[in-house]
Amino acid sequence: MPHEPELQARPLAVKVSGLVKDYGKQRVLNGVDLEVGAGEVAVIIGPSGSGKSTLLRCLNLLERPQSGDIVIEGKPLLHPAADLNAIRTEIGMVFQQFNLFPHLTAADNIALAPVRVRKRPKAEARARAIELLEMVGLPDKADVYPGSLSGGQAQRVAIARALAMEPRLMLFDEPTSALDPEMVGEVLAVMKRLAEGGMTMVVVTHEMGFAKEAGHRVIFMEQGAIVEEGPPSRLFTSPAKERTRSFLSKVL
Ligand code: ADP
Ligand code: MG
Repeated sequence: MPHEPELQARPLAVKVSGLVKDYGKQRVLNGVDLEVGAGEVAVIIGPSGSGKSTLLRCLNLLERPQSGDIVIEGKPLLHPAADLNAIRTEIGMVFQQFNLFPHLTAADNIALAPVRVRKRPKAEARARAIELLEMVGLPDKADVYPGSLSGGQAQRVAIARALAMEPRLMLFDEPTSALDPEMVGEVLAVMKRLAEGGMTMVVVTHEMGFAKEAGHRVIFMEQGAIVEEGPPSRLFTSPAKERTRSFLSKVL
């Protein structure tokens, strides 16, 4: 698929080629090719069941594809000698459900992996957790338990937790879909700030406003394949494929 000229200049952060994933007899990803440049925000849209989550889950090897290649920051993920744990720590993932540990405070949720996995001293990890809480607009929630947070606050803590590992790539799978409408904006605002800071992001979302404002590239998936991709200014206004047009007419 030819790329738009403005997307070619960036060094590649993610290169997926010929990705095939089956669940039993069902082919869920049917030869997906995807390139994401460093610092680029790629937004994946498409109907339910089109394979968006499966693609994200393959990118950090929560799922193992049948065939194809995934190269992240120059490292081939599917190579037998790949250090999966090392690669995974460089990829942050934020899900629809925040999955915070209920028995840990916000700060301890954020500091846990840096202490356990990166062997950071506790005091240093806590100081960083507090910085990250400030960054996501929650400076006063360090010692609050997840049960006392709103959905939007909990999701912002989940983003801070992912950032605490200093990932090179952030994956978001419908991060606002489980939120009450009044909380969607505060989470998208944090994601936009992250994008402006140059984070490489792959975001599955139904928030077309976010795709337009923060996305460098929008990717439309259907039935396990990328139908069309391009900058939001083009894809939303003049999609090349009828299937893209039809999907957009339902969601815009
Ligand atoms: P999307 O995120 O675009 O809604 P998914 O990647 O979740 O799509 O799912 C794509 C297809 O794969 C769907 O038909 C779904 O039912 C199927 N699927 C997803 N996860 C599993 C699984 N763990 N086992 C079997 N089938 C699955
Ligand atoms: Mg999904």
